[in-house]
Amino acid sequence: MGSVQQTKQAVSGKKRPAARRTRPLTKTERITKYNRIYLKYCNEMWIHCGDCGKDRRAYSYVSLREIVVPMGVFSDPSEWDLIVLLHEIGHIKTNKESMKMVVKEYLATQWMADESKKWEIPVKKLYADAFQKYIWEKRKLSIARGGKNVPSEEELAIRW
Ligand SMILES: [Zn+2]
Repeated sequence: MGSVQQTKQAVSGKKRPAARRTRPLTKTERITKYNRIYLKYCNEMWIHCGDCGKDRRAYSYVSLREIVVPMGVFSDPSEWDLIVLLHEIGHIKTNKESMKMVVKEYLATQWMADESKKWEIPVKKLYADAFQKYIWEKRKLSIARGGKNVPSEEELAIRW
């Protein structure tokens, strides 16, 4: 029975979920991953370098399917740059115009969390907490502005 199961698994190609890695990436790994992510998505959106201000944080225009990343990032991306890139791609992959801002941020971040596992990019607790806090703040803002049917904090909790 065990062997049948194993064969079935081998055929279906199902793998156990990837364990989250915690070792920091080397510079070469960061460059390789950043460029591979770019190559995977550059045909469905426009990802290019531009002025990202003093904090050098990438941003996106979802309706234009455009992402602006910091100058020089391709030759020396940090782990933060990698997860922000995935988050911005996540906006373009998941967002619909009609969604509430808080839902857009939640979906982009959950997409990033899932993809960071596939690409074996560690997400430091500091960064994970910052994204979660950002989403919950957007939720409070939405409620303060009289938003209806705002999802609960639980519904907006990222599964890392
Ligand atoms: Zn965002």
